[in-house]
Amino acid sequence: MSTIIDEFSSEHPDNKGYYGKTRRLRMLSSGDEHFSTIEELFYNGWKHPKKQKQKIHAIFKILSPDSSLKPYHRYRAMVTSSPTLRNRTKNSANEQFLFHGTNRFCRLAEDASRVRLCSLSKCHLCSIIRNSFDVQRCGKKHKFRRFGTGIYTTACSSKADDYVLNGDESSKFRVLLVNRVVVGKPHKRRQNATGLTEPPCGHHAVVGEPGVDLNYEETVVYHNNAIRPAFLIVYKEDTQKVKAKLKSLIITLFKTPLAS
Ligand SMILES: [Zn+2]
Repeated sequence: MSTIIDEFSSEHPDNKGYYGKTRRLRMLSSGDEHFSTIEELFYNGWKHPKKQKQKIHAIFKILSPDSSLKPYHRYRAMVTSSPTLRNRTKNSANEQFLFHGTNRFCRLAEDASRVRLCSLSKCHLCSIIRNSFDVQRCGKKHKFRRFGTGIYTTACSSKADDYVLNGDESSKFRVLLVNRVVVGKPHKRRQNATGLTEPPCGHHAVVGEPGVDLNYEETVVYHNNAIRPAFLIVYKEDTQKVKAKLKSLIITLFKTPLAS
């Protein structure tokens, strides 16, 4: 039995009082050690030049029961001991924080008090937080699966944002999942391979690299236990930046002589 208590575990002393049947979120203070890491990943990962810059409103830690985390630990240990990775010393399972955007039909995480998961079957966000990811469900929403039947994540937050959908029109914010992903030894590809159901032998994930068929990176795992949701980022358009952009546009317009 593992003696290390996972910091995302409902059993961890820091998480006492935050976990319940429908409660899985603990809001991070801006001084939390993870806050700046996740913030940096989000802002640095916002790569699409034409997409409006966003501002983080809050970050929540996602808590899971040990019954869900243990299979993840076992999978991670298995990858760590695989012959191709055995000699690596630090983070040998190549565990990474990667984004995943999905739909939300409730107003979970819109403020500190909205921490209860809804029971709507169409609310994929609550389902993922409650039961983690399911390879079989992941491809259903989007028919085109570039690297086959797997769970799709990316280090590019602006790309994951393309898949965020607010089903509740009164939502003021968008939310994005940050996940722990055991990438292990990735198989890197530039071309599509839509028939894949597992990574090529000796590999643990497929990483799509920009260049031929892709504009932005994506990482696909094919095993439910290779991933667990870890954080939820709540954000919205950076209105200061929108205003600044408008102002500079107006100034440019006034400086441009009118065509006669
Ligand atoms: Zn929900």
